[in-house]
Amino acid sequence: MYKSDTICAVATGLGKSAIGIIRVSGPEAISICDGIFVGKKSISEMETFTAAFGRIMDGDTVVDEAIVLVMKGKHTYTTEDTVEIDLHGGSYVVRRVLELLINKGVRLAEPGEFTKRAFLGGRIDMTEAEAVMDVINAETERSLGTSMKQLSGKLREEVVSLREKILYNTAYIESALDDPENYSLDGFGEKLRADIDEVLMRINKLLSTSEEGRVIREGIKTAIVGRPNVGKSSMLNYLLGENRAIVTEVEGTTRDTLEEYADIGGILLKLIDTAGIRDTSDVVEKIGVDKAKETIEDADLVLLLLDGSQEMRDEDRDILNSLEGRKVIALINKIDINIEGTEVSENKELEKELSGKGIDHILYTSAKTGQGVEELKDLVKEMFLNQELDYNDQIFITRSRHKSCLIRAKDSLDKVMEGIDAGVGEDFLTIDLMDAYEALGEIIGEALEDDLANKIFEEFCMGK
Ligand code: GDP
Repeated sequence: MYKSDTICAVATGLGKSAIGIIRVSGPEAISICDGIFVGKKSISEMETFTAAFGRIMDGDTVVDEAIVLVMKGKHTYTTEDTVEIDLHGGSYVVRRVLELLINKGVRLAEPGEFTKRAFLGGRIDMTEAEAVMDVINAETERSLGTSMKQLSGKLREEVVSLREKILYNTAYIESALDDPENYSLDGFGEKLRADIDEVLMRINKLLSTSEEGRVIREGIKTAIVGRPNVGKSSMLNYLLGENRAIVTEVEGTTRDTLEEYADIGGILLKLIDTAGIRDTSDVVEKIGVDKAKETIEDADLVLLLLDGSQEMRDEDRDILNSLEGRKVIALINKIDINIEGTEVSENKELEKELSGKGIDHILYTSAKTGQGVEELKDLVKEMFLNQELDYNDQIFITRSRHKSCLIRAKDSLDKVMEGIDAGVGEDFLTIDLMDAYEALGEIIGEALEDDLANKIFEEFCMGK
């Protein structure tokens, strides 16, 4: 059984802040906090999930006024007795109260230790524990959203459902081998193939969201489109604040699509710079053009760039026509260019034609001077808040450990498929099926135990 000492940690940042919160968790949390807190009641007399006002005392000295929140074990995050101390003072006071606690025998928690306790206490499973770590480390609100989704158990739900399917088939085979009179394996190969095919598809889908070595932070898929030379790469760079895309004056040099992420006030845009869309006979460029069209179909948002210093061309119109039904923001770019000494601060002709095509969001920008970029950011934020824009609702694999488990499961299931094709005996198939089951189980921190498997087997088949 898991036994623990009492730990504490600062829940708020240690920098400048109006309040500081210290959390204490463990068997002695309540008694130790009682030793430094003076309120109307002692903490041990307080009801669980109630708060009280009082003072933190160092002997006779008042350290700070505080509100304590008492949460008694089992239903707390760590499943242990937990006391939260909300202090008014800044970092100096927080440090002093930490010192007081440490002097009374509380240990400073290691990073992630509260979450580790939640896991060990059975409060959350491995995917959820890891997602919590991601929440703590989340850099943007969006990646927070992804972590939240795993936290609410979406990944686990999917893994559990995949495992059930595998287990059911394994159990059926085992039953048929044990009890051939009641369970027939005639034609079972085809049913198994269909099931495993589906499981493989779903595993592939999960895998497609993963990427080695870094946390995937999927944002609003934003395609940047426009004919060559209107300033797509420049705009991308401006939004990124760094020079990553190749900017060039030769038309058609952005051959492929390029993906980058930009954080716009906590909203994450996955920016996809498409090759200049136009009819082309250049084979290499054509690949890029096709991909751009695909990207548009897949995008949550399209940034259509036009050259504000020029008139609308047929190439622009072709692109415009391909955007029907998409969320579009049109950017009339290069407004810094002077034509005959006058600044192109507007181009009514372009604007009119865009409006005529049902484009409501039109902004004037310059990827060179940055004019209009703030307005663009504000507009994106506004559209997001109005729910005109949304993230797609997918589960994301954010851990390389999950990925390697999924790959192992996939390899085992591939072997099952090969086995079916080669007509090997069902009893051999169960070995690979169970390997896949086990690999998936590791994602949610459940290794295969013989008796557990047996129990489920009984429930599945023999029980009927
Ligand atoms: P893309 O082919 O659409 O990706 O266009 P690029 O970003 O490669 O830009 C083509 C040319 O236009 C480059 O010489 C850029 O420096 C220039 N350019 C892009 N945006 C602006 C702008 O807002 N103002 C001015 N003056 N030049 C721009």
